[in-house]
Amino acid sequence: MLTNPYAWIEESLATIHRADWYRSVQTIHGLPSATVLLEGQEVINFASNDYLGLAGDQRLIVAVAAAVQEYGTGSTGSRLLSGHRELHRDLEVAIASLKQTEDVVVFSSGYLANLGAIAALVGKRDLILSDQYNHSSLKNGAILSGATVIEYPHCDVATLLTRLHQQRQDYRRCLIVTDSVFSMDGDLCPLPALLELAEEFSCMLLIDEAHATGVLGTTGAGCVEHFGCTGRQIIQIGTLSKALGSLGGYVAGSTALIDFLRNRAPTWIYTTALSPADTAAALAAINIMQQEPQRRVQLWRNVNYLKQLLQQHLPNLKLLPSESPILCFQLPNATDALKVGHQLRCAGIFAPAIRPPTVTTSRIRLSVIATHQEGHLEKLVEVLCVINFDG
Ligand SMILES: *Cc1c(COP(=O)(O)O)cnc(C)c1O
Repeated sequence: MLTNPYAWIEESLATIHRADWYRSVQTIHGLPSATVLLEGQEVINFASNDYLGLAGDQRLIVAVAAAVQEYGTGSTGSRLLSGHRELHRDLEVAIASLKQTEDVVVFSSGYLANLGAIAALVGKRDLILSDQYNHSSLKNGAILSGATVIEYPHCDVATLLTRLHQQRQDYRRCLIVTDSVFSMDGDLCPLPALLELAEEFSCMLLIDEAHATGVLGTTGAGCVEHFGCTGRQIIQIGTLSKALGSLGGYVAGSTALIDFLRNRAPTWIYTTALSPADTAAALAAINIMQQEPQRRVQLWRNVNYLKQLLQQHLPNLKLLPSESPILCFQLPNATDALKVGHQLRCAGIFAPAIRPPTVTTSRIRLSVIATHQEGHLEKLVEVLCVINFDG
């Protein structure tokens, strides 16, 4: 008897529903902002990565309109085959100047930058050592590369050292891979220790600055700047879609590295160039970010104020250790996380429940942004104080 070869999809969806792992998308209206209309209800937005509040900035919108008038809407092909615009190089030069690296290449997303860079840098004869909590794009880049992948426990430098002693000599090249700000936890990688190990064992080091660019460091260059490691040999990846309010990704590093990626990274060579609109938005965002450091100052003022309010009014809340604008509190299971997420939503707070398989333990994840007002943070804490955490 023939069975329907697609029947398993509905069965699989039913299993996802039973575990309370099912997810769906909600519609928001209006410009990105600290408050948004979510399915018609006004909510305070703790679900946005727009750390500096630039995604709805009129200056970005004007820059995009001008770029679209001049260059049109599409890039029409890959950069190697169809050519690129001055804007693309202007953006790469601006990011290289921010990062203090020799060169930069921009990709169509941060996800594609990670896939392409990792797949180009290592192969079958090589080893990848990867933090257990790394972003999906780093994990899938590692799989795509065909290298042997060993995950080390989260931020555990001692275990990483042991693995290097045991395994390094069995492989040609070795790449250590880590988020700089961990996206679902908000803590930082131990960058100076990782750099030391990379140098001692002749490994390349790749860090993903997605949540750190524009956020950490005196000039907003990221975690590398925060730890005083500017100018060291590090492959830095990042996104244009968080603090820079646009869409796209980048790799920053030496001239040779970037030249090599332009010749070997499949997710750059075989895909259409970043659109003129996205390119112009990111370029305008970098300029504003450099001219208005007070945005980053305000962001950190907000982070510290919220932490202080939480400690003062909710000392029993299980906050995960964080050194970034990402603040998470843990809940016993997915069902409870959904319930708390729903209660928050009913009280006008938009903060997503993060559940397996994204993370192993369920939580509510709060993203603080520069454009939150004190009143927004106070309202959040007020609402949390009256929520029943025991279901
Ligand atoms: C968001 C994110 C990415 C993906 O970046 P996109 O530009 O959105 O594709 C990669 N790595 C980390 C750590 C992220 O948080």
